[in-house]
Amino acid sequence: MDVAARKARAAERVDARGPELERLSLEIHAQPELAFEERFAAASLADFVEREGTTVTRAPGGLETAFVAEAGTGRPVVALCAEYDALPGVGHACGHNVMGTGAVGAFLAVRDALDGLGGTVRLVGCPAEERGNGKVMLMSAGVFKDVDAALMYHAGDHDELDPLMLALSSLEVEMIGKAAHAAGDPQSGVNALDALLLGFGAVSALRLVIRSDSRVHGIITDGGQAPNIIPEHTAARLMVRSPDNAYLGELRQRLEACFQGAATSTGCELRATWGETTEGVTTNAALAEAFAANAKALGRTMGPRRPTAPLGSTDMGNVSTAVPSIHPIIAITDVPTPGHSHAFAAAARTPQALVAMRIGAKALAQTAIDILTDPGLAKRAWERHNGRR
Ligand SMILES: [Zn+2]
Repeated sequence: MDVAARKARAAERVDARGPELERLSLEIHAQPELAFEERFAAASLADFVEREGTTVTRAPGGLETAFVAEAGTGRPVVALCAEYDALPGVGHACGHNVMGTGAVGAFLAVRDALDGLGGTVRLVGCPAEERGNGKVMLMSAGVFKDVDAALMYHAGDHDELDPLMLALSSLEVEMIGKAAHAAGDPQSGVNALDALLLGFGAVSALRLVIRSDSRVHGIITDGGQAPNIIPEHTAARLMVRSPDNAYLGELRQRLEACFQGAATSTGCELRATWGETTEGVTTNAALAEAFAANAKALGRTMGPRRPTAPLGSTDMGNVSTAVPSIHPIIAITDVPTPGHSHAFAAAARTPQALVAMRIGAKALAQTAIDILTDPGLAKRAWERHNGRR
Protein backbone atom coordinates (compact mmCIF):
# COMPACT_ATOMS: atom_id res chain seq x y z
CA MET A 1 0.00 0.00 0.00
CA ASP A 2 1.38 3.45 -0.83
CA VAL A 3 1.19 6.43 1.50
CA ALA A 4 -1.94 7.89 -0.08
CA ALA A 5 -3.76 4.56 0.18
CA ARG A 6 -2.75 4.20 3.85
CA LYS A 7 -3.99 7.72 4.60
CA ALA A 8 -7.26 7.04 2.81
CA ARG A 9 -7.68 3.82 4.78
CA ALA A 10 -7.01 5.67 8.05
CA ALA A 11 -9.65 8.31 7.22
CA GLU A 12 -12.14 5.57 6.34
CA ARG A 13 -11.46 3.81 9.63
CA VAL A 14 -12.06 7.04 11.61
CA ASP A 15 -15.41 7.43 9.85
CA ALA A 16 -16.27 3.75 10.32
CA ARG A 17 -15.88 4.21 14.09
CA GLY A 18 -17.32 7.74 13.96
CA PRO A 19 -20.70 7.03 15.62
CA GLU A 20 -19.04 5.04 18.41
CA LEU A 21 -16.39 7.75 18.97
CA GLU A 22 -19.11 10.40 19.08
CA ARG A 23 -21.10 8.40 21.61
CA LEU A 24 -17.98 8.01 23.81
CA SER A 25 -17.23 11.70 23.50
CA LEU A 26 -20.74 12.68 24.61
CA GLU A 27 -20.73 10.18 27.48
CA ILE A 28 -17.42 11.54 28.77
CA HIS A 29 -18.80 15.07 28.37
CA ALA A 30 -21.87 14.15 30.43
CA GLN A 31 -19.73 12.80 33.26
CA PRO A 32 -16.90 15.31 33.75
CA GLU A 33 -14.11 14.12 36.06
CA LEU A 34 -11.32 16.15 37.61
CA ALA A 35 -7.59 15.47 37.35
CA PHE A 36 -6.55 12.00 38.63
CA GLU A 37 -10.22 11.01 39.06
CA GLU A 38 -10.98 10.25 35.39
CA ARG A 39 -11.97 6.66 36.09
CA PHE A 40 -15.02 6.61 33.82
CA ALA A 41 -13.27 8.33 30.91
CA ALA A 42 -10.07 6.25 31.12
CA ALA A 43 -12.01 2.99 31.44
CA SER A 44 -14.43 3.88 28.61
CA LEU A 45 -11.60 4.69 26.21
CA ALA A 46 -9.41 1.73 27.25
CA ASP A 47 -12.37 -0.70 27.07
CA PHE A 48 -13.21 0.58 23.59
CA VAL A 49 -9.64 -0.02 22.38
CA GLU A 50 -9.77 -3.56 23.81
CA ARG A 51 -13.14 -4.26 22.20
CA GLU A 52 -11.49 -3.16 18.95
CA GLY A 53 -8.84 -5.82 19.43
CA THR A 54 -5.75 -4.20 20.99
CA THR A 55 -4.55 -5.00 24.51
CA VAL A 56 -4.33 -2.03 26.87
CA THR A 57 -1.87 -1.57 29.71
CA ARG A 58 -3.74 0.17 32.50
CA ALA A 59 -2.27 2.41 35.20
CA PRO A 60 1.31 2.61 33.81
CA GLY A 61 3.74 3.90 36.44
CA GLY A 62 1.03 3.36 39.06
CA LEU A 63 -0.97 6.28 37.68
CA GLU A 64 -4.47 4.88 38.11
CA THR A 65 -6.28 6.75 35.34
CA ALA A 66 -3.54 6.49 32.71
CA PHE A 67 -3.30 3.79 30.04
CA VAL A 68 -1.10 2.80 27.11
CA ALA A 69 -1.82 0.74 24.00
CA GLU A 70 0.48 -0.11 21.13
CA ALA A 71 0.49 -1.40 17.58
CA GLY A 72 3.45 -2.25 15.33
CA THR A 73 7.07 -2.78 16.35
CA GLY A 74 10.37 -0.93 16.42
CA ARG A 75 11.27 2.65 15.50
CA PRO A 76 10.11 5.18 14.78
CA VAL A 77 7.72 5.39 17.72
CA VAL A 78 4.81 7.80 17.35
CA ALA A 79 2.87 8.66 20.51
CA LEU A 80 -0.71 9.93 20.28
CA CYS A 81 -1.70 11.73 23.48
CA ALA A 82 -5.28 11.45 24.70
CA GLU A 83 -6.45 13.89 27.40
CA TYR A 84 -9.79 13.48 29.20
CA ASP A 85 -9.87 15.43 32.46
CA ALA A 86 -12.39 18.20 33.11
CA LEU A 87 -12.51 21.40 35.16
CA PRO A 88 -14.18 22.16 38.49
CA GLY A 89 -17.51 23.97 38.07
CA VAL A 90 -17.48 24.18 34.27
CA GLY A 91 -17.03 20.51 33.28
CA HIS A 92 -15.56 19.80 29.85
CA ALA A 93 -14.84 23.46 29.16
CA CYS A 94 -11.47 22.58 27.61
CA GLY A 95 -12.95 20.06 25.15
CA HIS A 96 -10.87 17.11 26.39
CA ASN A 97 -13.87 14.85 25.70
CA VAL A 98 -13.43 15.36 21.95
CA MET A 99 -9.61 15.28 22.17
CA GLY A 100 -9.41 12.01 24.08
CA THR A 101 -11.80 10.18 21.78
CA GLY A 102 -10.16 11.77 18.74
CA ALA A 103 -6.76 10.40 19.79
CA VAL A 104 -8.28 6.95 20.32
CA GLY A 105 -9.90 7.09 16.87
CA ALA A 106 -6.57 8.16 15.37
CA PHE A 107 -4.68 5.33 17.08
CA LEU A 108 -7.04 2.62 15.86
CA ALA A 109 -7.04 4.11 12.34
CA VAL A 110 -3.23 4.05 12.16
CA ARG A 111 -3.23 0.48 13.49
CA ASP A 112 -5.65 -0.52 10.74
CA ALA A 113 -3.47 1.13 8.08
CA LEU A 114 -0.12 -0.34 9.25
CA ASP A 115 -0.39 -3.44 7.05
CA GLY A 116 3.16 -4.69 7.61
CA LEU A 117 4.70 -1.24 7.96
CA GLY A 118 7.61 -0.96 10.43
CA GLY A 119 7.47 1.34 13.43
CA THR A 120 5.17 1.71 16.41
CA VAL A 121 2.11 3.79 17.17
CA ARG A 122 1.45 4.22 20.87
CA LEU A 123 -1.74 5.58 22.38
CA VAL A 124 -1.00 7.34 25.66
CA GLY A 125 -3.99 7.99 27.92
CA CYS A 126 -2.85 11.11 29.78
CA PRO A 127 -4.67 12.06 33.00
CA ALA A 128 -4.45 15.33 34.87
CA GLU A 129 -3.68 17.97 32.27
CA GLU A 130 -5.73 20.71 33.93
CA ARG A 131 -3.65 20.43 37.07
CA GLY A 132 -1.10 17.92 38.30
CA ASN A 133 1.09 17.46 35.19
CA GLY A 134 0.06 13.86 34.48
CA LYS A 135 2.33 13.71 31.44
CA VAL A 136 5.36 14.54 33.58
CA MET A 137 4.51 11.49 35.73
CA LEU A 138 4.18 9.38 32.59
CA MET A 139 7.56 10.68 31.42
CA SER A 140 9.07 9.58 34.75
CA ALA A 141 7.42 6.18 34.21
CA GLY A 142 9.31 5.91 30.88
CA VAL A 143 6.24 6.09 28.61
CA PHE A 144 7.87 8.69 26.32
CA LYS A 145 11.52 7.60 26.56
CA ASP A 146 11.76 5.92 23.12
CA VAL A 147 9.27 8.25 21.39
CA ASP A 148 10.31 9.98 18.15
CA ALA A 149 7.19 12.10 17.78
CA ALA A 150 4.43 12.99 20.26
CA LEU A 151 1.25 14.21 18.60
CA MET A 152 -1.99 15.69 19.87
CA TYR A 153 -4.41 18.42 18.94
CA HIS A 154 -6.26 20.72 21.29
CA ALA A 155 -9.83 21.91 20.89
CA GLY A 156 -10.35 25.65 20.40
CA ASP A 157 -12.39 28.26 18.56
CA HIS A 158 -9.92 28.67 15.66
CA ASP A 159 -7.34 26.60 13.77
CA GLU A 160 -3.77 27.39 14.85
CA LEU A 161 -0.64 25.36 14.14
CA ASP A 162 1.73 26.58 16.86
CA PRO A 163 -0.23 28.18 19.71
CA LEU A 164 1.66 30.08 22.37
CA MET A 165 1.51 28.08 25.58
CA LEU A 166 3.30 29.61 28.56
CA ALA A 167 5.81 27.94 30.83
CA LEU A 168 4.55 28.05 34.41
CA SER A 169 6.00 27.55 37.90
CA SER A 170 4.16 27.91 41.16
CA LEU A 171 5.72 28.98 44.44
CA GLU A 172 4.52 28.44 47.96
CA VAL A 173 6.01 31.01 50.38
CA GLU A 174 5.95 30.86 54.17
CA MET A 175 7.36 33.44 56.55
CA ILE A 176 8.23 32.33 60.05
CA GLY A 177 8.41 35.10 62.67
CA LYS A 178 7.78 35.27 66.41
CA ALA A 179 4.47 35.93 68.16
CA ALA A 180 4.18 38.68 70.76
CA HIS A 181 1.48 40.95 72.21
CA ALA A 182 0.99 43.56 69.50
CA ALA A 183 0.29 46.38 72.01
CA GLY A 184 1.98 45.28 75.23
CA ASP A 185 5.20 43.73 73.96
CA PRO A 186 5.73 44.41 70.21
CA GLN A 187 9.49 44.68 70.62
CA SER A 188 9.64 40.93 71.38
CA GLY A 189 7.90 39.99 68.13
CA VAL A 190 9.13 39.23 64.63
CA ASN A 191 6.40 40.20 62.17
CA ALA A 192 5.79 37.55 59.52
CA LEU A 193 3.02 39.59 57.86
CA ASP A 194 5.29 42.58 57.29
CA ALA A 195 7.82 40.21 55.76
CA LEU A 196 5.21 38.88 53.35
CA LEU A 197 3.95 42.37 52.43
CA LEU A 198 7.49 43.57 51.78
CA GLY A 199 7.93 40.53 49.55
CA PHE A 200 4.79 41.42 47.58
CA GLY A 201 6.05 45.01 47.33
CA ALA A 202 9.28 43.74 45.83
CA VAL A 203 7.27 41.58 43.40
CA SER A 204 5.38 44.70 42.25
CA ALA A 205 8.71 46.41 41.60
CA LEU A 206 9.99 43.33 39.78
CA ARG A 207 6.91 43.27 37.56
CA LEU A 208 7.85 46.70 36.17
CA VAL A 209 11.17 45.50 34.82
CA ILE A 210 10.40 42.06 33.40
CA ARG A 211 9.53 41.13 29.82
CA SER A 212 6.01 42.21 28.88
CA ASP A 213 5.16 38.67 27.73
CA SER A 214 5.81 37.24 31.21
CA ARG A 215 3.59 37.30 34.28
CA VAL A 216 3.81 37.09 38.07
CA HIS A 217 0.66 36.85 40.16
CA GLY A 218 -0.29 35.59 43.60
CA ILE A 219 -2.45 35.62 46.70
CA ILE A 220 -1.92 35.62 50.45
CA THR A 221 -3.31 32.41 51.93
CA ASP A 222 -2.42 33.10 55.58
CA GLY A 223 -2.18 36.68 56.81
CA GLY A 224 -1.75 36.03 60.50
CA GLN A 225 -3.85 34.78 63.37
CA ALA A 226 -5.28 37.84 65.20
CA PRO A 227 -4.77 41.61 65.01
CA ASN A 228 -3.53 41.81 68.59
CA ILE A 229 -0.77 39.27 68.01
CA ILE A 230 2.37 39.98 66.01
CA PRO A 231 1.93 37.32 63.25
CA GLU A 232 4.36 34.46 63.65
CA HIS A 233 3.32 32.61 60.50
CA THR A 234 2.09 33.84 57.12
CA ALA A 235 1.88 32.20 53.71
CA ALA A 236 1.28 33.04 50.06
CA ARG A 237 0.93 31.24 46.76
CA LEU A 238 2.33 32.72 43.55
CA MET A 239 2.65 31.79 39.89
CA VAL A 240 5.21 32.93 37.37
CA ARG A 241 4.76 32.43 33.62
CA SER A 242 6.75 33.09 30.47
CA PRO A 243 6.78 31.83 26.87
CA ASP A 244 10.53 31.28 27.32
CA ASN A 245 11.63 28.31 29.47
CA ALA A 246 15.09 29.80 30.13
CA TYR A 247 13.65 33.19 31.09
CA LEU A 248 11.21 31.45 33.43
CA GLY A 249 14.24 29.99 35.24
CA GLU A 250 15.63 33.50 35.70
CA LEU A 251 12.28 34.82 36.91
CA ARG A 252 12.02 32.03 39.45
CA GLN A 253 15.29 33.13 41.03
CA ARG A 254 14.28 36.78 41.03
CA LEU A 255 10.87 36.02 42.52
CA GLU A 256 12.38 33.99 45.34
CA ALA A 257 14.91 36.77 45.95
CA CYS A 258 12.02 39.22 46.55
CA PHE A 259 10.91 37.14 49.52
CA GLN A 260 14.42 36.28 50.66
CA GLY A 261 15.23 40.00 50.87
CA ALA A 262 12.01 40.64 52.80
CA ALA A 263 12.78 37.82 55.21
CA THR A 264 16.30 39.12 55.83
CA SER A 265 15.18 42.70 56.43
CA THR A 266 12.49 41.68 58.93
CA GLY A 267 14.42 38.92 60.67
CA CYS A 268 11.99 36.22 59.55
CA GLU A 269 12.79 32.79 58.24
CA LEU A 270 11.69 32.11 54.65
CA ARG A 271 10.42 28.73 53.50
CA ALA A 272 10.05 28.67 49.72
CA THR A 273 8.65 25.56 48.01
CA TRP A 274 8.48 25.35 44.22
CA GLY A 275 5.88 23.14 42.55
CA GLU A 276 6.39 21.18 39.35
CA THR A 277 7.25 23.39 36.35
CA THR A 278 5.03 23.24 33.28
CA GLU A 279 7.23 24.04 30.29
CA GLY A 280 6.23 26.08 27.25
CA VAL A 281 5.28 24.11 24.13
CA THR A 282 8.02 23.90 21.51
CA THR A 283 6.19 23.02 18.30
CA ASN A 284 8.37 20.86 16.06
CA ALA A 285 8.41 22.55 12.65
CA ALA A 286 8.92 19.36 10.61
CA LEU A 287 6.01 17.58 12.27
CA ALA A 288 3.83 20.69 12.22
CA GLU A 289 4.37 21.05 8.48
CA ALA A 290 3.16 17.48 7.94
CA PHE A 291 0.14 18.04 10.19
CA ALA A 292 -0.77 21.29 8.39
CA ALA A 293 -0.63 19.55 4.99
CA ASN A 294 -2.90 16.76 6.21
CA ALA A 295 -5.32 19.23 7.82
CA LYS A 296 -5.36 21.26 4.61
CA ALA A 297 -6.34 18.19 2.59
CA LEU A 298 -9.17 17.69 5.12
CA GLY A 299 -10.38 21.24 4.55
CA ARG A 300 -8.73 23.04 7.47
CA THR A 301 -6.19 25.84 7.04
CA MET A 302 -3.96 25.96 10.10
CA GLY A 303 -3.35 29.62 10.96
CA PRO A 304 -0.10 31.11 12.23
CA ARG A 305 0.63 31.76 15.90
CA ARG A 306 -1.38 34.54 17.52
CA PRO A 307 1.34 35.95 19.78
CA THR A 308 -1.00 38.21 21.76
CA ALA A 309 -3.37 35.38 22.67
CA PRO A 310 -1.61 32.85 24.88
CA LEU A 311 -3.88 29.95 25.70
CA GLY A 312 -2.52 29.07 29.12
CA SER A 313 -0.13 26.31 30.06
CA THR A 314 0.02 22.57 29.42
CA ASP A 315 2.14 19.60 30.47
CA MET A 316 2.46 18.83 26.75
CA GLY A 317 5.15 21.53 26.99
CA ASN A 318 7.30 19.19 29.10
CA VAL A 319 6.84 16.42 26.54
CA SER A 320 7.80 18.86 23.76
CA THR A 321 11.04 19.72 25.56
CA ALA A 322 11.94 16.01 25.71
CA VAL A 323 10.87 14.78 22.25
CA PRO A 324 9.66 16.29 18.94
CA SER A 325 6.01 17.24 19.48
CA ILE A 326 3.03 19.14 18.14
CA HIS A 327 0.04 20.67 19.97
CA PRO A 328 -2.03 22.47 17.29
CA ILE A 329 -5.50 23.92 17.91
CA ILE A 330 -8.49 22.63 15.94
CA ALA A 331 -11.67 24.71 16.03
CA ILE A 332 -14.67 22.88 17.46
CA THR A 333 -16.73 26.09 17.64
CA ASP A 334 -16.73 29.69 16.43
CA VAL A 335 -14.66 32.71 17.52
CA PRO A 336 -14.91 34.07 20.17
CA THR A 337 -15.53 31.17 22.55
CA PRO A 338 -12.83 31.32 25.22
CA GLY A 339 -11.71 28.08 26.82
CA HIS A 340 -12.63 27.21 30.42
CA SER A 341 -16.03 28.92 30.02
CA HIS A 342 -19.57 27.54 30.24
CA ALA A 343 -19.95 28.48 26.57
CA PHE A 344 -16.98 26.31 25.59
CA ALA A 345 -18.32 23.39 27.63
CA ALA A 346 -21.64 23.70 25.75
CA ALA A 347 -19.75 23.86 22.43
CA ALA A 348 -17.83 20.65 23.21
CA ARG A 349 -20.96 18.51 22.77
CA THR A 350 -22.36 20.00 19.54
CA PRO A 351 -22.44 18.31 16.11
CA GLN A 352 -19.83 20.88 15.02
CA ALA A 353 -17.45 19.65 17.75
CA LEU A 354 -17.99 16.03 16.75
CA VAL A 355 -17.22 16.83 13.10
CA ALA A 356 -14.03 18.57 14.27
CA MET A 357 -13.14 15.51 16.37
CA ARG A 358 -13.14 13.34 13.26
CA ILE A 359 -11.04 15.87 11.34
CA GLY A 360 -8.55 16.06 14.21
CA ALA A 361 -8.41 12.27 14.44
CA LYS A 362 -7.79 11.92 10.70
CA ALA A 363 -5.11 14.63 10.65
CA LEU A 364 -3.32 13.02 13.61
CA ALA A 365 -3.54 9.55 12.06
CA GLN A 366 -2.28 10.75 8.68
CA THR A 367 0.60 12.64 10.29
CA ALA A 368 1.55 9.46 12.16
CA ILE A 369 1.47 7.61 8.83
CA ASP A 370 3.77 10.27 7.32
CA ILE A 371 6.26 9.62 10.13
CA LEU A 372 6.04 5.84 9.84
CA THR A 373 6.39 5.78 6.04
CA ASP A 374 9.08 8.46 5.61
CA PRO A 375 12.24 7.77 7.68
CA GLY A 376 13.50 11.23 6.65
CA LEU A 377 10.66 12.93 8.55
CA ALA A 378 11.58 11.57 11.99
CA LYS A 379 15.21 12.44 11.24
CA ARG A 380 14.32 16.04 10.27
CA ALA A 381 12.10 16.30 13.36
CA TRP A 382 14.99 15.29 15.63
CA GLU A 383 17.38 17.68 13.84
CA ARG A 384 14.92 20.55 14.41
CA HIS A 385 14.40 19.44 17.99
CA ASN A 386 18.10 19.31 18.82
CA GLY A 387 18.76 22.56 16.97
CA ARG A 388 16.08 24.48 18.83
CA ARG A 389 17.00 23.42 22.31
ZN1 LIG B 1 -6.97 21.59 27.76
